[in-house]
Amino acid sequence: MASIFTKIVVGEIPSYKIAEDERFFAFLDINPLAKGHALVIPKKEVDYLFDIDDDTLASMTLFAKRVAMAIEKTVPCKRIGVAVLGLEVPHAHIHLIPLNSEADINFANPRVKLTPDEFTSLAKEIANKF
Ligand code: 5GP
Repeated sequence: MASIFTKIVVGEIPSYKIAEDERFFAFLDINPLAKGHALVIPKKEVDYLFDIDDDTLASMTLFAKRVAMAIEKTVPCKRIGVAVLGLEVPHAHIHLIPLNSEADINFANPRVKLTPDEFTSLAKEIANKF
């Protein structure tokens, strides 16, 4: 069965898309730790990030870097934190999280609530800077 993220890639499930190319897709996390919290995934479904072949993983990191720079230009923060958990969704993904303090990347924190309109305009703003 296709993962929830594969369904997002093919458009079966909607997402607040930031960017995509032939191999990768970036979109806003629906339950963000901070405004601008985004996920970068390979379009090809692989569960574990470190099972991805070297060339694809290197390219994914560079794609994530471009997404991070676009988020940084959009959301005021000290830097973009990077996390890989994959404990919930078995489709490899890199979390990109705007940080002002170490505590901002604690996954036990309450999530930020945004309206659909806020998600839409935030994704658009980041996408325009990608
Ligand atoms: P992890 O697998 O890294 O532990 O957590 C999965 C992350 O994906 C969580 O931060 C969760 O909020 C996010 N997530 C789960 N389902 C969806 C979804 O359908 N859409 C979006 N945009 N994010 C999701």
